[in-house]
Amino acid sequence: MQTPKNPRKETDILIIGAGLAGLSAAQKLVEHGRQVLVVDKGRGLGGRLAGRRIGTATFDHGAQFMTARDPRFAALVERWVDAGVAEEWYRSYPGQPQAHPRWRGVPTMTALAKDLARGIEVWSSTRVVEMRQSERAWHIALDSGDSLTAGTVILTAPVPQSIDLIDGGAIALSSDHRRRLEHIEYDACIAVMAVLDGPSMIPAPGAVAPQNGILDWISDNQQKGVSGVPAVTLHASAAFSAEHIDAPREVVGKRIIEAAQPWIQATVTDYQVHGWRYSKPSRVDEKTCLVVCQDPPLVLAGDAFAGPRVEGAVVSGWAAAQALHNDIP
Ligand SMILES: Cc1cc2nc3c(=O)[nH]c(=O)nc-3n(C[C@H](O)[C@H](O)[C@H](O)COP(=O)(O)OP(=O)(O)OC[C@H]3O[C@@H](n4cnc5c(N)ncnc54)[C@H](O)[C@@H]3O)c2cc1C
Repeated sequence: MQTPKNPRKETDILIIGAGLAGLSAAQKLVEHGRQVLVVDKGRGLGGRLAGRRIGTATFDHGAQFMTARDPRFAALVERWVDAGVAEEWYRSYPGQPQAHPRWRGVPTMTALAKDLARGIEVWSSTRVVEMRQSERAWHIALDSGDSLTAGTVILTAPVPQSIDLIDGGAIALSSDHRRRLEHIEYDACIAVMAVLDGPSMIPAPGAVAPQNGILDWISDNQQKGVSGVPAVTLHASAAFSAEHIDAPREVVGKRIIEAAQPWIQATVTDYQVHGWRYSKPSRVDEKTCLVVCQDPPLVLAGDAFAGPRVEGAVVSGWAAAQALHNDIP
């Protein structure tokens, strides 16, 4: 739901971000009896697990799949499969020999976030514009003009945006913490979602990594089972995306589509472009989360801590919950 008309003014724990880190932290804390509110500036749940529709076409345009290395995360994936919100997509595609399973969300990647959010109070379209610290609490200003007091905050925005909130609120950051946070870097990624008038030429299982300088990845949402009609997601390379992230979307979208022609061949009937300024961290922190302040607690979490992937975001969210609540295994 969006920010309610007469929102409450207090929460035990405020989690900023309804991506996987925020929601997995929320779920663990709620399971252990804590009162949690999650806010996200986006309209939907999932953060970088983004989906979009253009007419009857459906796209995963952020994370494309997940892998599972940590046994605790593998158990969660198994639970998701049993619940029908995840399934194995593939183990390898032409030219890519690795054989470990890639799992996808069903019907789209955002299903994973929706599953984690069950039973959790989430306010979407709600941006935190300022955080200030007093002796015992955090004072939070929202873009709706409302304010909240929280005993504890977990901040899961991409780290440069978290630093902006910390500095904007004149929150003390030790030189070691600042050094660690400023060491974290992200790749940009320009994503194009293109509707086709016929099937693409991408071989089964509907994924290819062209690495031709412009494109890093193409997936066929129809073969993947995400879209009922032909629809491809194109991810530009980190170098191309960094150079063009502020360029006019239409121009850059056309260039990316041209570079994908050998794999598309059908005519693009419609397309949209999304620029991920912080797509995946290229340099991460060595710890699974960062406790910036003990009293009142402020913990930073997200994929920049436990690994630049879906699994890392979840593991980091769990680590943040553990940092606040010793009984969480
Ligand atoms: C194009 C792309 C492709 C990817 N492909 C893969 C892949 O194939 N496999 C894989 O494992 N991973 C992939 N990833 C990475 C994966 O999506 C991320 O690692 C993971 O989703 C990060 O989750 P998170 O919770 O840490 O952050 P996010 O999902 O970014 O969540 C943070 C949330 O905080 C919110 N927020 C930020 N600031 C504020 C504020 N001031 N107030 C309120 N809310 C705020 C944001 O709206 C966002 O929803 C990909 C990512 C991208 C962008």
